[in-house]
Amino acid sequence: MSDIGWEGQVALVTGATRGIGAAIARELAARGVHVVGTATSDDGAQRITQALAAYPGCQGVRLDVTDGAAAEAVVASIVKERGALHILVNNAGITRDTLAMRLKDEDWDAVLDTNLKAVFRLCRAAIRPMMKQRYGRIVNITSVVGATGNPGQANYAAAKAGVAGMTRALARELGSRRITVNCVAPGFIETDMTASLPAEQQQALLAQIPLGHLGKPADVAHAVAFLASPHAGYITGQELHVNGGMFMA
Ligand code: NDP
Repeated sequence: MSDIGWEGQVALVTGATRGIGAAIARELAARGVHVVGTATSDDGAQRITQALAAYPGCQGVRLDVTDGAAAEAVVASIVKERGALHILVNNAGITRDTLAMRLKDEDWDAVLDTNLKAVFRLCRAAIRPMMKQRYGRIVNITSVVGATGNPGQANYAAAKAGVAGMTRALARELGSRRITVNCVAPGFIETDMTASLPAEQQQALLAQIPLGHLGKPADVAHAVAFLASPHAGYITGQELHVNGGMFMA
């Protein structure tokens, strides 16, 4: 697989209904990748299929990433039906923000289950076919908050920092099989997730961004496509920050 190109590669992108995941799915599809994008509802899955209708081999499927058996089944059916899985993008994520003293166990668990445990399970499911084909690109979406911390996001920061650590461990495990594992850490990107932040918090965040504006989902999607590319084969275990300079590692 040394001369593999984009055309006809198969990708699984979680949380592809909107925001960053939708942009990633579009970006890969536009390069000729056959993208399977996930949604939590049938309706959402249908919308993904429609949004990617111009690109051959793309479709939306329903998946709640916290359902381990369903996640394994989606990976298995992709490999069975399409013969391979080249790219996994773990993008689906949630927030349940509140100050630590008020943070309930269920909000801790929901964020850790969706943003960390589910990412591990999908990686585990994808590793087997990637090892067999001796090629793979795993890109996990973390967050600037995993590196900097943020008041009100102890659960989210813990999950994202956990994904970054897990990524480095997997990169070491899988390097000899030509599977790369990296993260893209968005800063403050215009999506539903950030639209719900109070105006004063949005202004405070903006003041910390040297480039002076929020990022767009496409800014993150381009970075993901770079790391998912066949040409990024000598980059593994890295976290690529896409944040307008608000945090410089
Ligand atoms: P959105 O809230 O806009 O979209 C979230 C996506 O995740 C949706 O497609 C949603 O599906 C999916 N999703 C949520 N829960 C589940 C679940 N249990 N199973 C499967 N899919 C699920 O988020 P963003 O686009 O803003 O964020 C995407 C990623 O980027 C997340 O990992 C987030 O943490 C990260 N990020 C975002 C930043 C930002 O500024 N926006 C900053 C840093 C990181 P559905 O529509 O079906 O509910």
